[in-house]
Amino acid sequence: MCRDINELHPKVKELAEALLELCKREGLNIKIGETYRTVERQDYLYEQGRTRPGNIVTNARGSSMSSYHQWRLAFDIYQNIKGAEYDSNILKRVGKLGQSIGLEWGGSWSSFSDTPHFQYTFGLSIKDLNLGKKPPEYIPTVEKIDQEYEKAVNTLIEKQIINIKNAWYPQPTVRYTAQLVEKISLELIKLDYDLQIKILNNKGIVIEVEKWKKQEYKEEDIKALIKKVAVYLKKQ
Ligand SMILES: [Zn+2]
Repeated sequence: MCRDINELHPKVKELAEALLELCKREGLNIKIGETYRTVERQDYLYEQGRTRPGNIVTNARGSSMSSYHQWRLAFDIYQNIKGAEYDSNILKRVGKLGQSIGLEWGGSWSSFSDTPHFQYTFGLSIKDLNLGKKPPEYIPTVEKIDQEYEKAVNTLIEKQIINIKNAWYPQPTVRYTAQLVEKISLELIKLDYDLQIKILNNKGIVIEVEKWKKQEYKEEDIKALIKKVAVYLKKQ
């Protein structure tokens, strides 16, 4: 049995991860069960409730390649709570969440309700797949990139480099870029005393770099520093 989410088509994997994230936010403790199934695994499940005891869990024979699990386009979930793995109310809630992000939920089928099951078919039928039609190559979604960008913007807000979120998210305001660079520089300089001395040295304000780095300066040195800064600022 394969429970590896990496065995799924990348788009389906992304949707599965998004679903888990949504569940987490809703306080639901959900895990991924089966993902990709080999022909043998599918046949084994088909036998359940037919030639093997148990309830019927699938109408798809392995050799017919008629389960989306066999095409890496389906996965099953369960609640990570012993004895309540397939609680119907919980599965219904997860089903709604899955549908909200574009997944097809097995619980919505009238003929064979399969509440732990989710799939994303790219509009391809089993017949299409068996005829050799392939799901499109995966291209990372814009939302995923933007999520990362939004997190980064939030970090800069925390650090008070950015004040107004909507000036930078979802799209940056190009004409504010010089201000942004200035604030970033100030923040980085603040964190690095040696760099501050290096900049003063670069401007000809501090000459004895080592003394200043080791903070062995005396009153006379400080007076000299202030005088030089005054001259420098007047020149600007
Ligand atoms: Zn399934």
